[in-house]
Amino acid sequence: MASESEEARPESALLSSDECFMAHCLIVAQQSKDPNTQVGACVVDVKGSILGSGYNKMPNGCESLPWSRNHKHRDHETVLYTKYPYVCHAVLNAIISSKGGVEGGTVYTTLFPCYECAKLIIQSGIKKVVYFTDRYEEDTESQGARKLFETAEIDHIEFSGLKDLVIDFTNPRTPLKFMRE
Ligand SMILES: [Zn+2]
Repeated sequence: MASESEEARPESALLSSDECFMAHCLIVAQQSKDPNTQVGACVVDVKGSILGSGYNKMPNGCESLPWSRNHKHRDHETVLYTKYPYVCHAVLNAIISSKGGVEGGTVYTTLFPCYECAKLIIQSGIKKVVYFTDRYEEDTESQGARKLFETAEIDHIEFSGLKDLVIDFTNPRTPLKFMRE
């Protein structure tokens, strides 16, 4: 009979809370219908439980609105033909779906928040942001958010650690493998 270890698995074999929550956001993002940008977010309370999750999507009942990024549409040159006035960002949806207990919590998001979401984060009492990428850091939306976070003293930390994470759904015994940097 094969001997089985009675020792607890070492820390290095475990996913950390940060890693679990960011992986969750990356998976949730894949529900987004946006052809260009898929963003996932979740809110975690002070005890480390996920309160709510969200991804970028059109408001309820508005799913027929356009996903275009281009301002030029036929003869019109107006932002109303783009997604920007309409889409609900992942952070907004994550906060809305959280049922209380947000105060003092953390938001995990695959993309650094825009200034509108930053205001929502601050006003809902969330104290920390962990983001996967800030690839639009030169844009006004990101720079405004950064200014808000610094002024309101909201921690904003870039996620690091995991290099690779693979889920093999054909292998129920050890379905998940990951590598660290
Ligand atoms: Zn936003």
